[in-house]
Amino acid sequence: MLYTSTRDKSIRVSAAQAIAQGISEEGGLFVPVELPKFSLDKISSMVSMSYIDRAKTVLREFLTDFNDDELNYCVEGAYAASKFSSPEIAPTVNISGNKNVLELWHGPTCAFKDMALQLLPYLMTVSAKKTADGKTIVILVATSGDTGKAALEGFKDVDHTKILVFYPVDGVSPMQKLQMTTQEGGNVAVCAINGNFDDAQSAVKSIFTNNEIKEELEKKNMMFSSANSINWGRLVPQIVYYFSAYCDMVDSGRISLGDEINVVVPTGNFGNILAGYYAKQMGLPVKTLVCASNSNNVLTDFLNTGTYDKNREFYTTSSPSMDILISSNLERLLYHMSGDDDKLICDLMNKLSADGKYTVSSDVMEKIQQMFDAGYTAEDKVDETIKYQFDNYGYLCDTHTAVAVRVYDEYVKNTGDDIPTVIDSTASPYKFSASVLNAIADEELDGLDEFDMVKELNRITGVEVPAPIASLKDKKVRFTDVCDREDMSNMVFKLLDL
Ligand SMILES: *Cc1c(COP(=O)(O)O)cnc(C)c1O
Repeated sequence: MLYTSTRDKSIRVSAAQAIAQGISEEGGLFVPVELPKFSLDKISSMVSMSYIDRAKTVLREFLTDFNDDELNYCVEGAYAASKFSSPEIAPTVNISGNKNVLELWHGPTCAFKDMALQLLPYLMTVSAKKTADGKTIVILVATSGDTGKAALEGFKDVDHTKILVFYPVDGVSPMQKLQMTTQEGGNVAVCAINGNFDDAQSAVKSIFTNNEIKEELEKKNMMFSSANSINWGRLVPQIVYYFSAYCDMVDSGRISLGDEINVVVPTGNFGNILAGYYAKQMGLPVKTLVCASNSNNVLTDFLNTGTYDKNREFYTTSSPSMDILISSNLERLLYHMSGDDDKLICDLMNKLSADGKYTVSSDVMEKIQQMFDAGYTAEDKVDETIKYQFDNYGYLCDTHTAVAVRVYDEYVKNTGDDIPTVIDSTASPYKFSASVLNAIADEELDGLDEFDMVKELNRITGVEVPAPIASLKDKKVRFTDVCDREDMSNMVFKLLDL
């Protein structure tokens, strides 16, 4: 299995190269040259397997330069039962009738990013051993909350890696901040910066390309890499859970082998739903992929009209992990749907950076619309949906999941297409306690801190508080550094002992 770039299809790299490198040199994203195909027989053989074995079965086809020992080491390390609050790792829970929820938040940080970021450090260290002489990998992350914590937890105490996370000092929730500043591990560091997320992000980008720092790293046998979702190593673990959910649906008798399902995904950077697309192309019986957005509905408009236009108001919503106007992974879909037209992708991406918009031809859009549907949930409908689901079905969902549930209900209303469906649930409701509590509580809630809200939510709903959130209160704060944007590179020197 070889990988090429969306912006230069003459490129050929191995999986290990794609993962160690992160992004192709000319700025394109790595994609598989050809997808492996899974027959119904093969899917049938996965029904009785554990999550770990299903993961090995799928990943073996993509990581053909990893031997069995390496693959076993990676997958068994990432999805060890001790790290997940569900023995099934990612359970598929029935809400009512044909409506099911795939819970992707049982990992150590209670958000779906764990599904990929638990595995990525293993893939990256094995890849570096193969392609970069065992250099120590230094992961730099600028985060608006979820990614930083999930990356810290994933890379914590992984040999030959160090991780530095920068977050905007006033730009994350109190719970997210506490999750990061109490992070354990001998190879981690966290620093707040005076500025917003964009400041943190652009400073990290400039450190990545700073030659002085790179040379210093080189001397110490270290190299930078990135843990954000354009890395193929973050996408490939996500293909697994679509196969796993399908197998669980078969295993529990909710569908028969070969039946089609619909999949609904609360979408931001388009990584999660793209993994669903890959699963479909590999032969998983998925009929429609429904892309759910919040008020930042740039993808809804694109999938309905063919014009992507990020020149619009940016909303700060109660589903912050979907507050995004440039969905990087869409580039991969456009590459595949245009028949590997790398020139077209260069042209579209140039237009996006110059004008903030582009339009895709009607034949490409026709292909996309055969597989994808799209909708969005306005902010005032999120609370209503959380309350409705809880009152009527006893199912408590977070704000991101509620966005998807609402879009799905509208989809069924508009199309009548109510075949068995899996809705991705991307965060524990306790990660967004304030919003969720507000949605379901009858009285006004004043003067409660984060932990009071967790307690109150638990009292009202009886839903168990995940251990990583329950234990946060007693953790010691380890990281209190705050620096200015201009001092971030000095901070990198200091934290890495350069
Ligand atoms: C990152 C995230 C998303 C969006 O996923 P993409 O792969 O970026 O589309 C949705 N929900 C939560 C809770 C997230 O953390």
